[in-house]
Amino acid sequence: MEFGFSAAEQAFADEVRAFLRDNPLDRFPLDGMDAGYGSGAHSRAFMKALGERGWISMCWPESFGGRAEPMFFKLVLFEELALAGAPFGPLAGSWQTADAIIDYGTERLRREVLPAIARGEATFWQGYSEPDAGSDLLALKTEARRDDDHYVIRGHKIWSSHAGIATHGLVFTRTSREARRSRGFSMFVVPNGTPGMDIRPIRSLTGGVYHYEVFLDDVRVPVELMLGPEGEGFQALLNGLDSDRFWGRFYKAPALERVLRRLVDHANATGASADAGLRRRLAAMAAELAALRVLFYRAACLLRDGAPITYETAVAKIYADETGQKLARLGMDLLGPWAPLRPGSHEARVDGEISHAYLTSLGHTIAGGTAEVLRTTVAVRGLGLPAEPRKA
Ligand SMILES: Cc1cc2nc3c(=O)[nH]c(=O)nc-3n(C[C@H](O)[C@H](O)[C@H](O)COP(=O)(O)OP(=O)(O)OC[C@H]3O[C@@H](n4cnc5c(N)ncnc54)[C@H](O)[C@@H]3O)c2cc1C
Repeated sequence: MEFGFSAAEQAFADEVRAFLRDNPLDRFPLDGMDAGYGSGAHSRAFMKALGERGWISMCWPESFGGRAEPMFFKLVLFEELALAGAPFGPLAGSWQTADAIIDYGTERLRREVLPAIARGEATFWQGYSEPDAGSDLLALKTEARRDDDHYVIRGHKIWSSHAGIATHGLVFTRTSREARRSRGFSMFVVPNGTPGMDIRPIRSLTGGVYHYEVFLDDVRVPVELMLGPEGEGFQALLNGLDSDRFWGRFYKAPALERVLRRLVDHANATGASADAGLRRRLAAMAAELAALRVLFYRAACLLRDGAPITYETAVAKIYADETGQKLARLGMDLLGPWAPLRPGSHEARVDGEISHAYLTSLGHTIAGGTAEVLRTTVAVRGLGLPAEPRKA
């Protein structure tokens, strides 16, 4: 097993650092809020700047307009952007959607959507959860009914992150009630603004808006916008969720490292670092973040080699999200009475970043599969334990 980056990957890291030096982040207007995962806020201008450099499509096959760079280039880009606190919010979702389109998208999706992703113009929200279907996603009620060369989608999605600022939704639907339980589902790439789609914001604990509910009232979608064959959406979703947990959390270790550095600087600047207990907590956190990085590098090696990563990504996601919560609690303790002050408050310490991290981190062990459900994955897939207690 090898965790080091190659000379070419290190040279690419230098290139990204140079880009970040030449393009101060405050030059990029923000369009959507940072949900605290470490990918920063959503900035269309920043995504377009990445697109102009060919960095969004760099790992795609040449036949799809890419440069066929090794997958680790994406890790390098994520690390550098997260360490800098850049606003690359939509990037993980764009990469995942592009991979799915390259693997099993229709000609139309490849022709229309892929180039827009490469330019940084197309970004995505995931329409999976519903009011009565979260962990048990197969309980979903949203239906897509075939009508000649279209499907007509009717249903209600909730918690769809960034739906109001993305350009397309990945809408997971039921296309058959007769098929075996997992075979009756299909995924669609639905452009925002399609008639019948109503996207409404949900205000979060921080006062900001990251999540939306989406009402789909007979939304007509051409057949060519279905992602994969009819009825096979569930398998595609399962494959996607593993990589979602990987790509959607990989950058958390460098992002948390950046926050830890800010806390250390603050502790030194204010004299709080004289406290031995605080020093021990900060040092323990540094060790946890180092372990978190290694967990993700190991999953990255398996992903690169095409090996299954269900167990590894479950472990890494649980650890990433719980470590993020722990770091935010440490930050709140360190800042004391100033901790709850929000970004924008003139008395806020560390730019109010910690209170935002603390409040947003609470949802991270729910999003993308709850920590409880993922512990079952670890128990069953990793340890060979039974999913349900055996009857005596
Ligand atoms: C920050 C955030 C972002 C999100 N973004 C999106 C998004 O972009 N798109 C989207 O579609 N959804 C999104 N979601 C929704 C998320 O996927 C669901 O909230 C999650 O799957 C849990 O579903 P639920 O809320 O219905 O809770 P439930 O599934 O009802 O779970 C309730 C509780 O029961 C526990 N539980 C449920 N089943 C089991 C089990 N089998 N074993 C043990 N415990 C169990 C859960 O762990 C939880 O504690 C987001 C959620 C959050 C918090």
